[in-house]
Amino acid sequence: MIVAFTDLDDTLFQTRRKLPAGAAGLTPATVDRDGQPHSFCTPAQSALLAHFAASGVTVVPVTGRDPAAMARVTLPFTSWRVLDHGLTVLRPDGTADPGWREQVLAHLAELAEALAGCTEHVAALAAEHGCRLTRHRAHGAHFMTVLKHPQADAARLEALQLAWEALLEERAWAGLHIIANANNVSVLPRHLGKAEAVRYLREQHFPDAALTLALGDSLSDVPFMNACDLALTPPAGQLLRTVTAARLPQR
Ligand SMILES: [Mg+2]
Repeated sequence: MIVAFTDLDDTLFQTRRKLPAGAAGLTPATVDRDGQPHSFCTPAQSALLAHFAASGVTVVPVTGRDPAAMARVTLPFTSWRVLDHGLTVLRPDGTADPGWREQVLAHLAELAEALAGCTEHVAALAAEHGCRLTRHRAHGAHFMTVLKHPQADAARLEALQLAWEALLEERAWAGLHIIANANNVSVLPRHLGKAEAVRYLREQHFPDAALTLALGDSLSDVPFMNACDLALTPPAGQLLRTVTAARLPQR
């Protein structure tokens, strides 16, 4: 058995804005809240999915999407699914895996005070910078706070990121960390995420997999990519852009 654990947004599909003008042969992959096509697979992304399907590869999405956002993905995923940045593992029948839920809720109970502290600490500053603050829940428990700026203003998002980084250090809240991308900054558990969910699935449900592939575009995907046998990443994604810019000495 071969299992492909794969991020979704900007790995298997992306919005039209991120595609070259006049890109052809696109296949709709998600819809927006009004049911209109929103993200698309390129011919190469469609070919990869078709290849996986034809060769019997089990494809397991590993995404930050919550269940509502996952429901707007129109690609046919039929196996296990990892949602909410790893906090939710769905079985093939669509119900939450109870063993994983139990572990997650126990871990979140330990982090509840720090997460609430981070959220309150930055609320006024977020409003000042015109950023929207959202508390995300999994299994009914707060696990992540996200700040978004409507125009994705990098300077304002960075100011909030720095405020959070300073607070985490000052309070020694090592169980949380910050992830940032183009239009948002989030605080979420450091030791419970996509990587731990992928390890859990490998151990509990795919112990006999001959090969596990990991597909992702972002730095936040790296831990789960490191939990698989082989990693694939798109050019010009956050991950390869960072590696390209690193100019590390060759040893
Ligand atoms: Mg992605």
